Amino acid sequence: MLIGGERVGSASGRTYEVCNPATGEVVDTVPLGNASDVEQAVDAAEKAFAEWAETSAEDRGVALANACELIKEHASEIAQLLTAEQGKTLFEANLEVHHLLHGLEFYAGLASKVRGSYVPLPQKGAYGLVIRQPIGVCAGIVPWNFPLTLMGTKVGPALAAGNTIVIKPASTTPLATLRTVELIQQATYAGGKGTLPAGAVSVVTGSGTEVGEALLAHPRVRRVAFTGSTEVGRHVMEVAGPQIKRITLELGGSDPMIVCEDADVGTAARMADTGRYFNCGQMCLGVKRLFVHSSVYDSFVDQLRSILAKKVVGPGTDRASRMGPLHLAYQRQEIEEQVDDARSRGARVTVGGARPTGDGLSTGNFYQATLLEDVPWESRVVREEVFGPVLPVFRFDDLDEAIALANDTPYGLGASIWTRDLVKANKAVEKLQAGNIWVNSLHYGYDELPFGGVKASGLGREHGPEALDYYLEPKGVVIAGLS
Ligand code: NDP
Repeated sequence: MLIGGERVGSASGRTYEVCNPATGEVVDTVPLGNASDVEQAVDAAEKAFAEWAETSAEDRGVALANACELIKEHASEIAQLLTAEQGKTLFEANLEVHHLLHGLEFYAGLASKVRGSYVPLPQKGAYGLVIRQPIGVCAGIVPWNFPLTLMGTKVGPALAAGNTIVIKPASTTPLATLRTVELIQQATYAGGKGTLPAGAVSVVTGSGTEVGEALLAHPRVRRVAFTGSTEVGRHVMEVAGPQIKRITLELGGSDPMIVCEDADVGTAARMADTGRYFNCGQMCLGVKRLFVHSSVYDSFVDQLRSILAKKVVGPGTDRASRMGPLHLAYQRQEIEEQVDDARSRGARVTVGGARPTGDGLSTGNFYQATLLEDVPWESRVVREEVFGPVLPVFRFDDLDEAIALANDTPYGLGASIWTRDLVKANKAVEKLQAGNIWVNSLHYGYDELPFGGVKASGLGREHGPEALDYYLEPKGVVIAGLS
């Protein structure tokens, strides 16, 4: 793991193996951390905070920009580590590194643009100020689907605002994170005279129940940024809440995509493909329920089917692969159970619905890109989050009904509508219950816009200048006695 700027073993001396989801082979061995390691990382982060919070905002931004340069120099190595541990294709891994850099650069630029305010007060000879100060030691708990970007959405604003942070990666995807944070820790500013203090970003590897739990409970961790399942998100609130820690939660989703009769059907079908099957469908904001107007249903679904029929499933290192394996074996089993449930209720599996066969596919957690039609509403693929390459598609005739069905879920992360009619688009923007709405656009988390969920999809926002609000405490100041 990485504590105080150094690669160290676990306090217990124990290790565990990280395996390749495409082959089952061991990729590497990492320390198995526990509460003692968290204690050391928090100590280092606290020490680093005293220096980093005093570093000028300009220098903090320069250091973050320098970290990006270092990551760029090692981008290919990092992408290969990511593919080996996570399973995604090298193309997807490279895109993830690119997205990480774009996000970190965004906060490098914003570091020196944080503003407070001047506030006129009722009495004479007095005025108010709002100054914004860093919080202290933060914790970032990250899942395995996008280990780098979801680490970056925490490290970027935390460091830009003057905080320090301890990252707990998913236990199955620590490798690319360790290498990336090692490079971030080497960042310099002021022409190399200043360096990021050792311990500004640490990575403690190990399980959620040991390392994650210790971070949630640690009294000197003042802020927790969590991305993961809704179930664990609830637990984060239960443990961190009583200590009044600042919390953001980016949780699961079941995003609807609505395709109207006047949509650009060809583009919509291509974006439904990317929106659902990118990263083997392991996305929080992926297209998870598709609603298509009856008048364009056949043409849309024909186009989507032919895209899916050409999708090559295989190891992420194989150039021909367009979709890698699912990350974990139990997760493929869950997907299979969800599809079987839909089938048993009468759904038609019109593409995929099974494990692919072929050379080299039996060792990995592979599953075909799958399309389900005529799916009963009570099916698990509709009622639950589906974290894999499976998409149920429904017909609709009336937009109000489609919006009502789209909202009939405990989740509210994202939603999209495809139409050229401004009135329809505006209705969807107003009525869809989600933290993010896309009109004629792929479900994508832009760094420039606040990202997060309503309902069971989370609390607070990452991305955008808004994310900085969650890493700064506003302090109201009164200056009086001036007359
Ligand atoms: P989990 O909630 O199981 O795990 C997420 C992280 O939490 C991992 O690092 C995990 O560690 C850790 N963790 C597990 N238990 C605890 C605990 N008791 N205390 C503290 N930390 C703990 O989620 P998944 O890994 O299954 O990730 C998939 C989920 O994440 C999906 O529901 C998906 O929708 C959601 N997600 C949401 C996003 C968003 O922005 N809204 C983005 C990406 C994913 P360990 O790996 O060791 O178990």
